[in-house]
This record gives sequence, C-alpha cells and structure tokens, in this order.
Amino acid sequence: MTDQYRPASSRVSVKRGADRAVYDPAEVHAILEAGHIAHVGVETDNGPIVLPMAYGVSTSETGDEVLIHGSVANAMLRAGRDLDVCVTVTIVDGLVVARTPFHNSMNYRSVVVRGTATAITDADDKVAALQIINDHIAPIWDTARPPSESDLNRTLVLALPLTEASAKVRSGDPVDEDIDLDGPHWAGVVPLTTTWGTPTNAADLRSAPPVPSAVAALAGLDAHA
Ligand SMILES: Cc1cc2nc3c(=O)[nH]c(=O)nc-3n(C[C@H](O)[C@H](O)[C@H](O)COP(=O)(O)OP(=O)(O)OC[C@H]3O[C@@H](n4cnc5c(N)ncnc54)[C@H](O)[C@@H]3O)c2cc1C
Repeated sequence: MTDQYRPASSRVSVKRGADRAVYDPAEVHAILEAGHIAHVGVETDNGPIVLPMAYGVSTSETGDEVLIHGSVANAMLRAGRDLDVCVTVTIVDGLVVARTPFHNSMNYRSVVVRGTATAITDADDKVAALQIINDHIAPIWDTARPPSESDLNRTLVLALPLTEASAKVRSGDPVDEDIDLDGPHWAGVVPLTTTWGTPTNAADLRSAPPVPSAVAALAGLDAHA
C-alpha cells in the first residue's frame, strides 16, 4: 500500500495491483477534481447499466459527497435512488507499450466510489449541488443565467457519500519479463495529455458578450483577447 490510509471497507479494497491503491482522501479528491467524466453503474430491473456522466464533489463537515444530475426522466438516475451504486472516474495518462502485448498497460489515475445514492430534494441543497456539478463542467454559475424553477423541477440530483472510496494509480514504464530485456522489441510510454482548445462562439450568439473569464481561463486565455 502506498499510503498510511486503510480502505473504508473490504469491498473497496483493491486486490490486484494493491501497491497501486491509494486511500488518502486528499488524493481521491485530487483525482476527482482533475477528472471530467464519471461512469455511473446501477443495477436496474432490466439489467445493470453503466452510463458516462458529469459530476461534482461537495465537501462539508457532515461528509463529502459525489454529486450527479440529469433529467427526472433519466431511467438510470431514477433507478439509482436509494440503491447501492458505483461511480468511477478515470484519467488516462499514457499508453504503456511493452515488449510483449501481454504486458501492455496504461498509466492512469482512477477512483471508485460505492454507496447508496440518495436524491437531493431540499431546494437550497439542490441548487447548491447543481452549482458544484456545473462549475465542475464549466465554472460559469455565477455569471450565467441562473436556472429557472422549471429547470430545477426537471432535474434530478443524486448524492453518494464519498466514504467507501478507493483510488488506483499507475505510472511509469512497462513491467517486462527479464528474458525480454535484451531482446529486439521496443518498450516505453506514450504520454497522453488533455488540453482545452480556444473557445469558439456559438453560431447563434446574437449580442457580442465576451467569453467569460472563467471559460477563457480554461484555455489559458485572457477573457478579452
Ligand atoms: C484505464 C484503465 C484500464 C484498465 N485496464 C484493465 C484491463 O484491461 N484488465 C484488467 O484486468 N484491469 C484493468 N484495469 C484495472 C482495473 O480497473 C482493476 O483495478 C483490476 O482489474 C482488478 O482489480 P481488483 O481485482 O482489485 O478489483 P475488484 O476486486 O473487482 O475490486 C475491489 C475494489 O477495488 C477497488 N478498485 C478496483 N479497481 C480500481 C481502480 N481501477 N481504481 C480505483 N479503485 C479500484 C474498488 O473499490 C473495488 O470495489 C484498468 C484500469 C484503468 C484505470
């Protein structure tokens, strides 16, 4: 184990590659902060389903939570209420190319969160949760048009305690077998980095508002450039 923290339960204890497991809440938060897509797994009446979704993380004295949202018509979110669900966030940092495909791998940072999802029904809590999720997508909540009551009524927000969580981190070279080290085959890492491009105006932008500074900042631009 790479840190002094222990898994919160046996079911979030990484078995294979346990030396890559991380249970430090600060590292779990850092990966969730850096990630963009959560894969949400729910068992439904017509079988298990895993869907990619936006997410956010709330922090409070009563406990940190992973937040997901969608239409009240979203079948998976509706099914997930009060059920044990799983949320996984993955960041790929590179391809790991070994001397034999058997040892090919990826460098990554991933987090798995398991627990009971509950719907946030209190109006103020729901707005606060939506701000967190949306600011994790694009931090414009404070500068854009606020959601209407109708927007809020059409949105279901689920919260999952960030208690039973594990992270797994792989970095570095391929792990090849000794017999291959003097052989003719290449081995190494192809790094993968993700960057935001220059924002483009929507085709139907009628007035000429500047790109919000928080959006421009994603691409490392000055808002009025
Ligand atoms: C991009 C990527 C590609 C991968 N490709 C493969 C592949 O092709 N084949 C393969 O066998 N494995 C792959 N893995 C690793 C895989 O996610 C599992 O870690 C591994 O298969 C088995 O772990 P386990 O036996 O401990 O899992 P289990 O015993 O099934 O899981 C026990 C607990 O360990 C924790 N855990 C397991 N995996 C992770 C993880 N990745 N991140 C955080 N927590 C975790 C969870 O809390 C889980 O509840 C990949 C991982 C990533 C991120």
